[in-house]
Amino acid sequence: MSDRILAAVMQAPHQPVVVQEFDVPELPRGAALLRTAYSEVCGTDVHLWHGRLAGVPYPIIPGHVTAGVLERVRGEVEGIDGSRLREGDRAVFFDVHRTCGRCRACTVHRTPTRCSARRVYGITDAASEGLFGGWSQFVYLEPGVGIARLPDSISFESYIGAGCGLLTAVHILERAALRPGDTVLVQGTGPVGLSAIALARLGGASTVYAIGAPVDRLELARRMGADVTFGLQTTTAEDRLATVRAQTHGDGVDVVVEAAGSARAIEEGLRLVRDGGRYVVAGHYTDTGSSTINAHHDINRKHLEIRGCWGSEVGHFLRALSLLEHHAAHVPWHEIGQRRYGLHALNDALEDAAAMRITKALVEPWET
Ligand SMILES: [Zn+2]
Ligand SMILES: [Zn+2]
Repeated sequence: MSDRILAAVMQAPHQPVVVQEFDVPELPRGAALLRTAYSEVCGTDVHLWHGRLAGVPYPIIPGHVTAGVLERVRGEVEGIDGSRLREGDRAVFFDVHRTCGRCRACTVHRTPTRCSARRVYGITDAASEGLFGGWSQFVYLEPGVGIARLPDSISFESYIGAGCGLLTAVHILERAALRPGDTVLVQGTGPVGLSAIALARLGGASTVYAIGAPVDRLELARRMGADVTFGLQTTTAEDRLATVRAQTHGDGVDVVVEAAGSARAIEEGLRLVRDGGRYVVAGHYTDTGSSTINAHHDINRKHLEIRGCWGSEVGHFLRALSLLEHHAAHVPWHEIGQRRYGLHALNDALEDAAAMRITKALVEPWET
C-alpha cells in the first residue's frame, strides 16, 4: 500500500467536505487496518453536516458503517465469534467502539446506548485522532472493536444497503415486542423504515402498512415486505386512518413504528395504533420540534405503550448479520444504496441525501 491515505473530512457544519491526506497509522497489537470497499451517507451524516448533533468534535471523518477487507492485522486479532481474523478477510465491524461498562446506564439500567462515554465511528472521534470513519480509503480498527468476518453470501452492496438502518430496525422490532399475527404500520420509508418493514414481515406480522415518500420508495417498500403503502403527499391522514381502521376491525394496528422524523408523524401514529398497542419512536434522532399529545385520549385512556429506541448494541449488529446471511437473497437490501460517490463527490451526496433524491448514498473511497 502507498504511504498516504485519502479521506473526506467534514470540517464543520455547513462547510464543504474536503479530501485530505493522512499517514498510514502505526498499529498497536490487537489493532487492524480495514481497506474500505464501501461506506455510506446516512441520515446521521446529513444531521452532522447540518450541525444538529451535540458534542461532535469537528473536523471529523464521517461514515459510521463500513465494509471492506482487512489489509493489515497486528498480532492475534479475534473476531466477535472468537475466530482468528487474517489479512485478506472480508470484514465489517460494530461502529460503537467504546462504552465504559461501569456507569449506571451500562450496569444497573442495562442501556449501554445511553452510556455517556460511548464512542461511535464516524461521529464522536476527531479526524486528528485517526482514521475513525469510513469516508476514507482505510479505517483504523482499534483493539477491542467488534469485528466480524462478512459471510460470503452477503455482498458488500447488501451489507451497506442495509447499513445502520438494519441495525436500528433490529432494535426497533425488539422494542416493539412483535407477536405473530400482529398488524404493523411503519411511518417513513427511508433506510430505517424499509428495514423495519422487512423485519416486521420476517417476524410474522399479518399485515404491514407503510406511509412514505417519494413514490419510488413506496415501490421498494412493497418489495421489502409492505402489503399496503400510502403516499405521504398523495393521501391524507384521514384517508389513512379510515383505511387502517376498516382493515383492523375498527381498532387500528397493534404496532406503529415511527421512522419518519417528523413531529406531525407522532400525532398521526398515536391515532393509527390500537388501544393497548405499542408505539416505538425511532425517527427523532434530532430535535424536530414538539408534537401535540393529549395524555387522556392518546395515552392513558388508550392504555398505550410508547417506547423510544436509541442507537444499537453489539447484539443488534450480530443479529443484523444473521438476517442478511439468510435473507439477503430475497429481501432487496442491496437496492437501498442507489448511487455511488467517490470522496470528491461527497458534497453532492450530502445534498442529494438531504433533498431525498436518493434513499442512501454509497461511498466508494477508491473511486476518486
Ligand atoms: Zn457506561
Ligand atoms: Zn447511520
